[in-house]
Amino acid sequence: MIYYNLKDHQEKIDFKNATIKGQGNEKGLFFPERIPHFEEEFIHNLHRYTHEEIAYRCMKDFVGDEIPSEILQEIVAETVNFDIPLVKINNQIAVLELFHGPTLAFKDIGARFMSRCLSYFLKDQNKKVTVLVATSGDTGGAVAHGFYKLPGINVVILYPKNRVSPVQEKQLTALGENISALEVDGSFDDCQNMVKLAFADAEINAKLLLTSANSINVARWLPQQIYYLIAYQQWIQQQNENPVISVPSGNFGNICAGLLAHFRGMPADHFIAACNDNHVIPDYLETQKFQPHTAVPTLSNAMDVGNPSNFVRIMELFGNQFDALKNTVSAYSVNDQETMNTITRVYQKYNYLLDPHTAVAFASLEKYLKENPGKKGFILGTAHPVKFPDAVEKAIHTSIEIPGSLNGLMKKEKKTVEINSDFEELKRFLLHKI
Ligand SMILES: *Cc1c(COP(=O)(O)O)cnc(C)c1O
Repeated sequence: MIYYNLKDHQEKIDFKNATIKGQGNEKGLFFPERIPHFEEEFIHNLHRYTHEEIAYRCMKDFVGDEIPSEILQEIVAETVNFDIPLVKINNQIAVLELFHGPTLAFKDIGARFMSRCLSYFLKDQNKKVTVLVATSGDTGGAVAHGFYKLPGINVVILYPKNRVSPVQEKQLTALGENISALEVDGSFDDCQNMVKLAFADAEINAKLLLTSANSINVARWLPQQIYYLIAYQQWIQQQNENPVISVPSGNFGNICAGLLAHFRGMPADHFIAACNDNHVIPDYLETQKFQPHTAVPTLSNAMDVGNPSNFVRIMELFGNQFDALKNTVSAYSVNDQETMNTITRVYQKYNYLLDPHTAVAFASLEKYLKENPGKKGFILGTAHPVKFPDAVEKAIHTSIEIPGSLNGLMKKEKKTVEINSDFEELKRFLLHKI
């Protein structure tokens, strides 16, 4: 498959180089030259396919022959080797639990696929690759686990000191081996700025082959289609009508992958972009004006994005037709108070515990169903509530237990290098310490 740069349509690249490079000239995002349709037989007989077969069908056209099919089969098998159940909350709403992977977040799926592709593509390189990421919490853990012990790859993660939850911190810092965690005395924005400076620094680039692992990378974005098909497979066994799909959205990579699956032939009634107080897209759908702003901190902090970078891919999918977009996608903004109330209410009424991100999706879907009676749908459960204990415990007035599967992790020692929010300190580390 060939991909073109959305900022410079002349720049074309194959899957391998798009995976290694991440983004194109002028920071443009890569987009597939054609949207391959699913065969009708596949959608019609979806119930007969295993998760691995679904994953392979989703990915093979996008990878082409750049990875031999038996290796791609191994990669997709490792990408979806945990449960992805669709759980009914009430008669109208189900939740797709995407948090049974190694770091209890949906980002595990994209990170596992991308890391294995990158490792395959780089196996004959003699220069070691360094994956450099800034995280506000969830990305770092998923990337660390995805790349853990993969040969030829070092991972350096910057995270803001005291601003990630205890489970998130352990997921970043306890692995060791090829994973380095830098604890930055500053904010997430500081971390991100330092990473940007590193990518632009000539001396660092002369010594290291640097790459990023964020959701603009096609190898992290595209595999997210897989679980929409896995959800739909379960949905049609429970319900007759097409689902309304509500997605907790920050950088809009996740919902964009769902829309892509829909364009390829997966039936859906409607999509909902569920946002917190960062409401650039809800505003855009109302006014047709795209006005990015600095991110506002909220309880659903993985969605605190003031300029959602994947939105250009959504516009491209819709041929830049605003009306077509509005027919398929609605967006809501849910503030922290509503988020807390939703966690409390759903716990009391249905005995189901939502994390703050998933709660935003639940509240948004409820709003849509109220305006459109008779419809039904599912939300994407993007994180396990135990990753956000402060908000969740406050909402339900009970302490929540860390699942037994995390006991080993929580006992491990935290290993970090503390640095100030100063690019020169990051540079010294990258040049001399890895
Ligand atoms: C990253 C993240 C999101 C936002 O996903 P996007 O693809 O950036 O829209 C939502 N929920 C959780 C828990 C996340 O970690």
